[in-house]
Amino acid sequence: MIETADVVIIGSGIVGSSVAYHLAEQGCTNVLVIEREAHQGKGSTGKSMGGVRAQFSTPVNIQMSRYSIEFFSRFDEVVGHPADYRAHGYLFCATSERHLDYLKANRERQLALGVHNVELVTRQDIAKFVPQLRVDDILGGTFCPTDGFVDPHSVMMGFMTHARERGVRLWLDTQVTGIEVEPALTGTAGVSPAHGPRTTTSRITGVMTTRGRVSTPIVVNAAGPWAAGVARLAGTELPVEPLRRQLVPTEPFAGLPQRFPMVIDMSTGFHFRREGKGILLAWNDPDETPGFKTDFDPGFVEKILTRAADRVPSLAEAEVNPRRAWAGLYEMTPDHHAIIGPAPDVSGLYFVNGFSGHGVMHSPASGRITADLILQGNSKLIDAAQLSVDRFAAGRLLEETAVL
Ligand SMILES: Cc1cc2nc3c(=O)[nH]c(=O)nc-3n(C[C@H](O)[C@H](O)[C@H](O)COP(=O)(O)OP(=O)(O)OC[C@H]3O[C@@H](n4cnc5c(N)ncnc54)[C@H](O)[C@@H]3O)c2cc1C
Repeated sequence: MIETADVVIIGSGIVGSSVAYHLAEQGCTNVLVIEREAHQGKGSTGKSMGGVRAQFSTPVNIQMSRYSIEFFSRFDEVVGHPADYRAHGYLFCATSERHLDYLKANRERQLALGVHNVELVTRQDIAKFVPQLRVDDILGGTFCPTDGFVDPHSVMMGFMTHARERGVRLWLDTQVTGIEVEPALTGTAGVSPAHGPRTTTSRITGVMTTRGRVSTPIVVNAAGPWAAGVARLAGTELPVEPLRRQLVPTEPFAGLPQRFPMVIDMSTGFHFRREGKGILLAWNDPDETPGFKTDFDPGFVEKILTRAADRVPSLAEAEVNPRRAWAGLYEMTPDHHAIIGPAPDVSGLYFVNGFSGHGVMHSPASGRITADLILQGNSKLIDAAQLSVDRFAAGRLLEETAVL
């Protein structure tokens, strides 16, 4: 029997699962999700810190966060599965006038786009949130109480379980090894195909997998850090690069409050939050270079503890077991924004890639936008053309500077 699907999604991480959920919600259920691992969540989703925030600098990221955070706040009721959304807030701390001005300008943009609860906070306010913080050089900051954390694995499972209950199929332990295309003649945009010059592109006819061929007119690339390789299977290029990120949990640590926001020290980029009885420490090493490196570097512990103890002196006493630390991959694009939408040269191929550190928090919006584009050709949520891969060739980059 020949397998067929209206849509094939490659990758069952949080993004592919959200696309499946949103397609099913819009009545498109003849969908097959293909995952090469035996379990979901083995890619970036299972490595994430789970942070969600509306405090971004560009309108499109703020809009995607606004939709997504509102979605997370209703997730358990709507999806029927826990997201474990904890609205503990994000607290950005500035130690220079330049950073403070940047936070103030971002806040104006966030307010204008309907995120009304971002507050400017003083050094004294910050000390009240986390009395153990060294605040002598802090000039002020911003705090948004509806920023916080989710459980990425639970969100992913919730999206997929709900989609499967509506008829979506999931093949685990199956790798997509090829994408079949056939030539298709199309007119150059804006020119009548009958009279204007023609460009030759291709269109999707199916995928080859380790379980056989599947016939489909639509393929969604939700392959996370492996997205560029999947795009190449269809003969097209995607500017997405893997970049290692490392997280260090402490052993149980009572020297900080039981509940406090994600704290971001803008002087170094060091940030931390509570994770159970311990503290989860994060810092993006500027010396990291692109590549598929997922081994944890034990030398990173000293680097991060130096930054941690500088901001929270009591963290110098925290115990760390390097074997409990881990590394995963961000999927970086040149302008640190996602790429969402149709491939310009392969009809039927859709990208939902390159989240540059924000794929968990933006998963509700990205699934919804992708489903809208496949089924309606546009999305009411945002002007999706901004996120199209065309922007790189056209020089319309969207630089996001609030990358953690
Ligand atoms: C250390 C770390 C911390 C992070 N912290 C945050 C955070 O606080 N907040 C936030 O929003 N984001 C965070 N991120 C980023 C976030 O985790 C990712 O953006 C997100 O998980 C991407 O989801 P995805 O579904 O696109 O990719 P993935 O979860 O990687 O899923 C892609 C899937 O595709 C499958 N696949 C690939 N190729 C094929 C193939 N040929 N055939 C079949 N299957 C295939 C893979 O096996 C994988 O399961 C963090 C990432 C890391 C590494």
